Amino acid sequence: MSEDLIERALASADDTDEVVMGDDVLGETGRLFRRLFGDAGGVVIADGNTWAVAGEQVTASLRGAGVELAEPYVFPARPSVYAEYENVELLREFLAPLGANAVVIGSGTLNDLVKKASDELGRRYLVVCTAASMDGYAAFGASISVDGFKTTLSCRAPQGLVVDLPTLAAAPQRCTATGVGDLIEKIPAGADWILADELGIEPIEQGSWDLAQGRLEAAISDPQGLVDRDPGAFVALAEGLVLSGLAMQRYRISSRPASGAGHLFSHVWEMEHLGMDQDPPLTHGFKVGLGTLAMLALWQNAVDLDVSAIDTEAAVATWRSREETEASVRSWFTGNMVEPAVKETLDKYLTTEQLRARIGLIKTAWPVITARAREQLVPPERAESILERVGAFHHPQQIDLSRQRFRDTYLRCRMIRSRYTLPDALFELGVLEEQVDRLFAPDGFWGRRPWAQTG
Ligand SMILES: [Zn+2]
Repeated sequence: MSEDLIERALASADDTDEVVMGDDVLGETGRLFRRLFGDAGGVVIADGNTWAVAGEQVTASLRGAGVELAEPYVFPARPSVYAEYENVELLREFLAPLGANAVVIGSGTLNDLVKKASDELGRRYLVVCTAASMDGYAAFGASISVDGFKTTLSCRAPQGLVVDLPTLAAAPQRCTATGVGDLIEKIPAGADWILADELGIEPIEQGSWDLAQGRLEAAISDPQGLVDRDPGAFVALAEGLVLSGLAMQRYRISSRPASGAGHLFSHVWEMEHLGMDQDPPLTHGFKVGLGTLAMLALWQNAVDLDVSAIDTEAAVATWRSREETEASVRSWFTGNMVEPAVKETLDKYLTTEQLRARIGLIKTAWPVITARAREQLVPPERAESILERVGAFHHPQQIDLSRQRFRDTYLRCRMIRSRYTLPDALFELGVLEEQVDRLFAPDGFWGRRPWAQTG
């Protein structure tokens, strides 16, 4: 049934023609390559870890199908290769003279680097997935740091995916846990999109919505099965991740179908290199999982907010000017993050006239927004228990975030993207800080959790 969902998604996908998913399908890589690229030459790209997982099988499959192979490019296993633009340039220069189509064996970072490098050469590639660790496999765009600022660079998704379920199930548990963290954010991200939709800021594109949300519940509902490496649980998670990528491929404008403010939390910490000096580095999905809890807790109170009682003129009277807004952003960020954050924040800046109109619109639309959001959301406690069960982080201090830094991220996350999410609406209503403080009060979601005395 769900495979039909992938087949149907592929029928209307612009970039990806085929997904080969199943048990022991690494040996299909060669035939897939020939179907997609005919007589073209190939080159395998991996790192020391992923080469050990599937390098020889994939190479044998390609050779067996008669694909002429160049020498593989294998990044070292340690330190982990980083998704920065310098590595895109490095791969592009490697690939350019070969004239071959790349076959990348890997997950998030390697796939993103090859995706971008191939696209810059006007070339297509295929990916052999090694972990159920994130949803970017089939996504349009690559998450790359440019001059230290994490951004999504436009580029075409792979033309083919090989999703070998035993390979995913054999990956380290932390990879699977990080995939759950990435996927579960689609819950509050959906609520953020409902908000932007109802306010006429970014309408929901139903096809992309259905892909991102359609298999979500099934994918996250059996965390114990994922720990036990139950094949059924891995099928559901892999489908959820691939479909979420196909949702972004379909939407194309941005990663909106798969990414709300919960992702923005992660991006802030990532740009500040949180956990990057760990070995292996702190993953995207672990940070996103915490961002998910943060946003589910914020949404949980927000749906009960009586916005009709908010004094519009008082909010307008304390609204910051454009210059004050810029100064505020500058005070919150340092280094390479400052200028992009200023730009993203000012892109959604409202004049006082626009603010008055926006607050009016929020008040009118609030009953519908909250009704739809309630349908979409789950209690933060449920997400917390899923993350805990699967072995993902569920408390900020597990990733060395102090209470203060975690709290501040609620205020800062909206400044790094023009994307409109719940913190924007609460900020416009003048209640963001008070709503955040409620969460850290003794009876609030974060106040009720234990915090070690480390500041
Ligand atoms: Zn993500």
